[in-house]
Amino acid sequence: MSKVRLATAWLDGCSGCHMSFLDMDERLIYLAEQVDIVYSPLIDIKQFPEQVDIALVEGAVSSQEDWHRIHEIRARTKTLVSLGDCAVTANVPSMRNAFDVDAILKRVYHETVSVQPQIPHEVVPALLSRARPVHEFVDVDIFVPGCPPSADTIYFVLTELAAGRAPDLSARTRFGA
Ligand code: SF4
Repeated sequence: MSKVRLATAWLDGCSGCHMSFLDMDERLIYLAEQVDIVYSPLIDIKQFPEQVDIALVEGAVSSQEDWHRIHEIRARTKTLVSLGDCAVTANVPSMRNAFDVDAILKRVYHETVSVQPQIPHEVVPALLSRARPVHEFVDVDIFVPGCPPSADTIYFVLTELAAGRAPDLSARTRFGA
């Protein structure tokens, strides 16, 4: 039987959800018998591939780059999982939504900088007007809340999906089993 093609992606988040993924510890070895990680910030592959079975997406959609990436991920993925509160609700990134983008850039790149204050127009992705959850841009198949979701929960979700079942998270707490 061919292995499940798994991707993980990091949009506007703190990487804590990926740290929780790594917290699966030795269970990653068992998982590796069932899945191939074909794209992730944890491995050195630059392009999101075609025909991904499961994509775990951490973080809100906050920039034009995030916008392009989430649409590419959706188009190339069978089962898209919003992983963690930033992906599910926009959570921490949405704290900036009360402020105008120009005011944020001025605050970050001028008012709090003492050497060569300047707003970057290259390399740094342009911000959207607000940080929004993933499902406001593309269809999401599975929602996994938590900040971050526990390693137990991530393992449960992945093993259920790898076995061809929809994970039932209704009986689980935000902190694990
Ligand atoms: S849900 Fe929590 S741990 Fe995950 S990216 Fe957001 S702030 Fe970080």
